[in-house]
Order: sequence, then structure tokens, then C-alpha cells
Amino acid sequence: MISRKKFLKYTLLGGLTPFTKWTKRSFSQKKGTPVVISTWNHGIPANEAAWKVLAESGSALNAVEAGVRVVEADPEVRTVGYGGRPDRDGFVTLDACIMDQENRCGSVGALQHIKHPVSVARKVKEETPHVMLVGDGALDFAMEQGFEKENILTDKARKEWEKWKKNAEYEPEVNIENHDTIGMLALDKQGNLSGACTTSGTAWKMHGRVGDSPIIGAGLFVDNEVGAAAATGLGEEVIRTCGSHLVVENMRRGDDPKTACKKAVRRIVRQNDALNNIQVGFIAINKKGQFGGYSVQEGFNYAVFDKIGNRLLDSSYWTNSE
Ligand code: ASP
Repeated sequence: MISRKKFLKYTLLGGLTPFTKWTKRSFSQKKGTPVVISTWNHGIPANEAAWKVLAESGSALNAVEAGVRVVEADPEVRTVGYGGRPDRDGFVTLDACIMDQENRCGSVGALQHIKHPVSVARKVKEETPHVMLVGDGALDFAMEQGFEKENILTDKARKEWEKWKKNAEYEPEVNIENHDTIGMLALDKQGNLSGACTTSGTAWKMHGRVGDSPIIGAGLFVDNEVGAAAATGLGEEVIRTCGSHLVVENMRRGDDPKTACKKAVRRIVRQNDALNNIQVGFIAINKKGQFGGYSVQEGFNYAVFDKIGNRLLDSSYWTNSE
């Protein structure tokens, strides 16, 4: 987790332009200039790692993997990877996926004991004829590939679970913490797009529950001809609408990234009578390097690193828009 001091440093480095200006529209980069965008506060340190790859003319694919691994390894982020909160039975089960500029993708669901599920997802993409492996099969594959089996339930996460167990009430809460799944999208100097998404999912979920994050088209979608999108928030809502695919298809029909995200949010809004317990946020980027985000509720933010620097932007949101 980034400290307040670091947060201020990162955001000030991000440029002198006030945040309010950044939330108003989508932005365009010159061709050949890389861009990386990722969800929530933890997107800032993740973007730093991704940018190092992009600045050295590395691929968007390598950038997004390197970026999200920073958050997976951080025990203070209790919604992703090592240190993530367990399910209701006390197991940390991780979901992740990755997708490249050639529509190749790999994914793992309900994977236990592995610190970097995104890298296992990449191996699924590159070393198997499949897209998705889940549960014990995903763990067996990870170990075959040389990943270390380790305990990823930290004391802090275990104590939170023990406290939760006293009442054992499962009620998804909106924005209980301002850092959730990390979804990351990058455009490299060669003009190629890739994306990655990784999470420990909803805290105290049923054992075996898989959210949107490892599902290609829901938590992440990349089409190198058009753009890429990723989602965070209540995964069931994202799956029902095939959210990230919808965002990319909106861009294909001509929407800028922010409008494309807003229309996907509108789909979710229309399918629900009450929004009180629903938060979903989308981020998107197109081939020109324009980017944007949109969420159901206030409180969603995302980090952008481009030639201006690395900065956090507050997303526009539905509940105050109409
Ligand atoms: N989308 C994730 C899930 O439902 C959680 C999140 O982004 O907060 O598993």
C-alpha cells in the first residue's frame, strides 16, 4: 500500500494540472508514446513498474505483467494476491487473466497458494492449448511450471477473517476500501495493446466462487484493432453484462473510452432496481492512446502514466450524472 507521503509525491509528479480537469474528458497521446492505465490507488506503484518496461520499448504484455505483480506481492493490499482476504472458509483463492495484442489469452480461477496468479495465467496462454485453468488443476499446472507453493494468507488477513466469522454475514459493501482488483491496460511504443487483471475476489465469498476478473470479456478484454478495457467491483454484475467486451465493442462503434465505459455502466444500472450495494468501475484505452473510466458510484479512481507522468484520476460516475 502506498503511504500518504508517497501518494502526494506520485500525484504531484503527475503534473501541475488540477485533477478536476483530468476527469472531464478522454485524452490523446502522440503515436509511439506509451500509456498505462490501472485501477485504484495501487495502480500508482503498479504503473511505475509497467512504465519501466514501456519506456525501454518493452511490450505492453510484459509491462502489464510486471505492473500487476507489484500489487500481487504487496501484503498490505488485501484484495489482490499475497495478503488477499480469504473466502468464508478461510482459503485465499485468486483469480487472474492476461490478454495480448494477438487476442491470445490465459486465465486462472480459484487458484490457491501461488503469489503471482497473473504469471500462471500467462503460462496458461503460452504453454497450453487452453485459455482457463481453475482450482487444483491450476495449482498442479503452476507447480509443474516451477511456481512455488506458499502460504499466502497473512496474519492480518486471517485476523480479519476470524473477526468476520463471529457474525459471518455476507453483504457486499460498496467502496469499503479504496483499493480492489487491479486491472491494467497498456499501449506500447510499437502501438500494441495488452491487459491484465488480478484479484483475491470478494472477501468472504463462497468457497469456489469465481468473479469477473479471470473471465475474458468480463474482467478484461483486449482487441488490438480497437482498444482494451478492464473492470473492478461487484464481479457478478460485470459477468452478467460481459462488461469489458461491451466497453471495447462500444469503442469499435466509435465511442471514446470514457463514453464506452459510461454506456457499459448504464447497462448495469438498467438491470438493477437498486444501486445501493453495487459498485462497478471500468477503465478503457483505445489505439490512439486515449483513455477514460466510469463507475456506478462515487469513489472509483484509476492511475494513468503517460508522458506527463504518473497520476491518480477520480472517475466520473453514474449516480450523480442523471
Ligand atoms: N471484481 C472482483 C470480483 O468480483 C472484485 C473487485 O474488483 O473488487 O471478484
